[in-house]
Amino acid sequence: MAHREARILIIGGGFGGLFTALDLAGAGEVTMVSPEDHFLFTPMLYEYLSGEVEAWHIAPYYKELLDESVRFIRGDVTEIDLAAREVTVEGRERKLSYDVLVLAVGGITNYWNIEGAEEYALPFRKLAHADALRRRMIEALDHVPPDAAPQDARRALTFAVVGGGASGVELSTKMADLLRDAFKRRALQGEPRVMVVEMGEQIVPGMGDEIRAFVEDALKQSRVEVHTETRVRRVMKDGFTIEHNGEETDIEAAGVVWTAGVKVNPLIEKLDIEKTERGLIIVEPTLQVRGHQNIFAVGDIAFYKDVVPTLSGTAQLANQEASLLASNIKALLDGRLLHARHFVELGEAVSLGTENAAVLAGGQAFSGPMARRARFALYTARLPTWHHRLKVGASWFFEGTSPRPLKPLGFQR
Ligand SMILES: Cc1cc2nc3c(=O)[nH]c(=O)nc-3n(C[C@H](O)[C@H](O)[C@H](O)COP(=O)(O)OP(=O)(O)OC[C@H]3O[C@@H](n4cnc5c(N)ncnc54)[C@H](O)[C@@H]3O)c2cc1C
Repeated sequence: MAHREARILIIGGGFGGLFTALDLAGAGEVTMVSPEDHFLFTPMLYEYLSGEVEAWHIAPYYKELLDESVRFIRGDVTEIDLAAREVTVEGRERKLSYDVLVLAVGGITNYWNIEGAEEYALPFRKLAHADALRRRMIEALDHVPPDAAPQDARRALTFAVVGGGASGVELSTKMADLLRDAFKRRALQGEPRVMVVEMGEQIVPGMGDEIRAFVEDALKQSRVEVHTETRVRRVMKDGFTIEHNGEETDIEAAGVVWTAGVKVNPLIEKLDIEKTERGLIIVEPTLQVRGHQNIFAVGDIAFYKDVVPTLSGTAQLANQEASLLASNIKALLDGRLLHARHFVELGEAVSLGTENAAVLAGGQAFSGPMARRARFALYTARLPTWHHRLKVGASWFFEGTSPRPLKPLGFQR
């Protein structure tokens, strides 16, 4: 396969797909297919919800990131024909042929077949999901009359986040801070109720003790109610049912947000390739799909044997894999030896409400406004392309990163 003529097709434009495309630019005919027109830096979706960052900061358009050496096609891939080396994109008559295929479609929300969850719970994986949640919070606030009794205001402003992982903690503290700020601004009596529901014994199970102490403290400061060893049994239009110690309780809620699980994209389910019990694609240390020299898988859908469990399913890993993947594709096209790499944990940075964060870097954990600033700095460096990093860094430095209050719908800009 000569370098320049090889058709490299990347399905998915997230951490795995986009960073591979950026690293590959110039090697072969690179095409990237993805349903949205923008990348999403998911670790800051919480800041987008609170208005600390804007859409263009964390969700730049592909056309601004990719140069003309990468062709971008917007669309959903619906079929992959491994034998014919062809891919079908929804709404496009002509199939796309490839010499090298990169599978980078990531995961989707897993509702675990809990009754009503898919229908009524709000997912939190995309910009549109954050927009819908923000709107739901404002609508709930707008329905509370200024003279409402504290207990009525609290009932009307009850929100639950299902899942006590990092996402659940980051989201619930952000929501609690935003809602409490809105209570003050609107001179409402009482306070909102934000709950985290976790079926395990403790929240953030994968995190070390140093950072967990900051997380627990922040949950208290933000007055988030933590319910561990508690299962969500069903979600309804206006509430949900939990079970703790065998006892079920119905709770009225203005919104239930689901962060309790990710499952493999249905496109991958259909593929006849080797997978784990959880449906993850088994990749060789070179990221090649087992038994297919010209197919690679990356990110949340790939099972890479030698990775520490806390790294799997993270952007950190997808990012590191993308760089290995691009260099291995170049090696494959050049007829050189493909390599493996040891992927490392780059530390943790957790957002904790609108004023706080906790960071673990170089073995040191710290929290507070300094950690919040460090998190912004750290994430500036992890955004795609130097150009975008500089633009965003300048915007955060000069224009600030204050949250945008939950103003009544009629007053939204
Ligand atoms: C709210 C949130 C916060 C997170 N915070 C962190 C964090 O702080 N740190 C961290 O390390 N990780 C974090 N993660 C996890 C991280 O986002 C994922 O591990 C990472 O995105 C995986 O990269 P990926 O390329 O496998 O998938 P993704 O980034 O999800 O990209 C998948 C891409 O495939 C596209 N796609 C899907 N289906 C199709 C199809 N049929 N055809 C074509 N394209 C398709 C999608 O549109 C998307 O562009 C977070 C995730 C979420 C949802």
